[in-house]
Amino acid sequence: MEDKILLEISGLVKRFGSETVLNGIDLSVHKGEVVVVLGPSGCGKSTLLRCMNGLEPPTDGTVLLDGKAVTADGKKITELRQKIGMVFQSYDLFPHKSIMDNITLAPIKVQKRPKREVEQDAQRLLKRVGLWEKRKAYPRELSGGQKQRAAIIRALCMNPELMLFDEVTAALDPEMVKEVLDVILELAESGMTMVIVTHEMQFARAVADRIIFLDNGKIVENSKPDEFFTNPKSQRAKDFLKTFSFEKRKNS
Ligand code: ADP
Ligand code: MG
Repeated sequence: MEDKILLEISGLVKRFGSETVLNGIDLSVHKGEVVVVLGPSGCGKSTLLRCMNGLEPPTDGTVLLDGKAVTADGKKITELRQKIGMVFQSYDLFPHKSIMDNITLAPIKVQKRPKREVEQDAQRLLKRVGLWEKRKAYPRELSGGQKQRAAIIRALCMNPELMLFDEVTAALDPEMVKEVLDVILELAESGMTMVIVTHEMQFARAVADRIIFLDNGKIVENSKPDEFFTNPKSQRAKDFLKTFSFEKRKNS
């Protein structure tokens, strides 16, 4: 992790009608840092990620990437957004395009990079996640885990400075979860800056430099993973962690 702050969120408020989902979020993510966002369903994790890449305009507050407002209008925002890769639960691959085309389309059309260069990048990425053999296949011919790995490298092929992951393994069969999490772990080791929403607690503990716990629109814990998992400060986080613990229930 470097000293430089890549993403800086200050006083972020997000309301939908009368519902206040985020109620004053302050968060700095350093270059190379991996932050995992935890919290009960509906607490605003996805909304926070969507505010981070400008998909949701904040009601109040600022989101800066490299010192520039992600929330600004116009042409600049499009350029800025390309620096932020996001992967969701649903893969959103184009069904009528091959895996190779899915990966190279935006870098060629949107970023206007030379086709040869992009295809070389795509080749390197496909090999890195074990999908080179599938480059000519269509999304329907891939398993869920393979599709999600393809979706991840499609985002990576844009050369983002920040990667956002929103429950990318939530829709996968259990045996495919690990192959996707391994890709993210490897990315973390390579120094990619990431904000990850996940319900895989072991993975969260292994990958995170820092855990953020959201409740009632606020960050109620901001700690090192070991600290969070062994000694959470808030009752809300304690209750949350209990829902993932089967061992204790058996004995009580
Ligand atoms: P999480 O990802 O933690 O489960 P979300 O960020 O998806 O939570 O949602 C937080 C709250 O915001 C929920 O009550 C949800 O209904 C509401 N919400 C999210 N997006 C919208 C939207 N586009 N319009 C209205 N309400 C929304
Ligand atoms: Mg969500």
